[in-house]
Amino acid sequence: MKIYQMLIGGQWVDATSGSIFDDINPYTGELYAKVAKGDAQDADRAMAAAFAARREWAATPAIARAQILNKAAQLLETSRQEFADVLIHEGGGTVGKVMFEISQTVDLIETAAADGKRILGETFHNDPTKLSMTVRRPRGTVVAISPWNFPLVLSIYKVAYAIATGNTVVLKPASESPVIGLKIGELFERAGLPAGVLNVVTGPGSVLGDALIDDDRCSFVAITGETVTGRHVAQRAAAKLKPYTLELGGKNPIIVLADADIEYAVKSTAFSAYLHQGEICMSADRIIVEKPIVEAFTEALAGLVAHLPVGDPSLPTTFIGPVISDNQVKKIDDHVKDAVGKGATLLTGGTYEGRLYKPTLLANITPAMKIYYEETFGPVASIISVKDEKEALAVANDTTYGLSAGVITKDLEKALFLGEGLQAGMVHVNDGTIDADACCPFGGCKGSGIGREGGRYSVEEMTEVKWLTIQKTKRLLPF
Ligand code: NAD
Repeated sequence: MKIYQMLIGGQWVDATSGSIFDDINPYTGELYAKVAKGDAQDADRAMAAAFAARREWAATPAIARAQILNKAAQLLETSRQEFADVLIHEGGGTVGKVMFEISQTVDLIETAAADGKRILGETFHNDPTKLSMTVRRPRGTVVAISPWNFPLVLSIYKVAYAIATGNTVVLKPASESPVIGLKIGELFERAGLPAGVLNVVTGPGSVLGDALIDDDRCSFVAITGETVTGRHVAQRAAAKLKPYTLELGGKNPIIVLADADIEYAVKSTAFSAYLHQGEICMSADRIIVEKPIVEAFTEALAGLVAHLPVGDPSLPTTFIGPVISDNQVKKIDDHVKDAVGKGATLLTGGTYEGRLYKPTLLANITPAMKIYYEETFGPVASIISVKDEKEALAVANDTTYGLSAGVITKDLEKALFLGEGLQAGMVHVNDGTIDADACCPFGGCKGSGIGREGGRYSVEEMTEVKWLTIQKTKRLLPF
């Protein structure tokens, strides 16, 4: 059994209090690791280390920063199995999911390295007497708070772009996935990142999060997590007038119109709804189908879902692994029971063994049921029948969230009507809800968050824009 320490100022250290906490394997329910349980004193140490390192790192040429990032990407590629093991045994990810996550992360680090060399300013040619331009400077010290569901790639969105743009970072991974956060620290240490540029603290989110955000040395906060957590973080940051990005929850629709290829629509839906047992912010859980095909679509989807392989995430054949915790199983089951109790039709699933929740499909859900509006974050989706694309749009937008949406139709006019009308940060036509590209803006609107991650969008968030002018001739003054 390994005991993991935190990374602060280039040193691997215990929590100041000496406390540790248990990190559980969600499939076996057994202890996976013991991890340092940091508190406000450790947040203070980490912020001090990041703050001390910030000037030198900001003054490091972008090419030198990129070399370290590219080295980290290479090391991640060659340590693929080591990272996969943690993602499977600590996070409950299936082999397919974790390999996809690692590949995506390698690409993201390389993209951030390149983007760090393209921090662009503008020149304005309005006043011939001056050179007028914008310059971008690093924010300073970034606090990065990540969730457990895609703990590697979602930490790296923040860490890699912060480093690439000349910021220093304190990463606080989720309590369910601390080891992957610490492995990120180790990865960048091996890649030659100077001490203090990346610090990783582990422990309770509420204690560490508040201490990090409140710290005057923190200049930017980037969090991915639940909407309720994001709201708290935003309030905390706003009290100190600190900028932030919030990547939060979702209640994502797929709209399947009557002209769709049913087989393709069924497969796209199953992938979007059940990948990583529905524990993805972009998971599709509202399947909005036009009436003429709803019967055929429902029958085909229920048939596919009933046979999705559930079990040990380390077996390459498994598609549905364990849900992260017993609490999460209870929440999922509560949503399903509440819906069925209020008249929903259970088409398949609805049972569980340990943390293995059977992929579940419901129909006839109504706004009176919890599942209609609340994020379930489990392998559960519901079919909603609509009469046309206008009703589909109204149903899809009837949510406080706005993260991702899929539209399956061959009709270009209807695709554009929905693509433009859907209140979501990301809309994919002729695809499901799950997609990410290191260069493209990732994020949502409404209760799904504020700001975007990826490519130049991260560069803009992680840097402060300044208007800089130089008079070419003396300015005309009234005296
Ligand atoms: P969570 O909100 O419980 O935790 C997220 C992070 O916030 C963790 O590191 C946690 O320790 C920390 N935290 C908790 N309380 C805090 C506080 N008071 N102050 C500061 N930090 C605090 O979320 P989770 O359960 O880890 O992740 C699942 C949620 O994340 C889902 O709602 C999912 O939709 C969302 N998510 C969103 C995206 C996105 O990009 N929009 C991606 C993945 C997950």
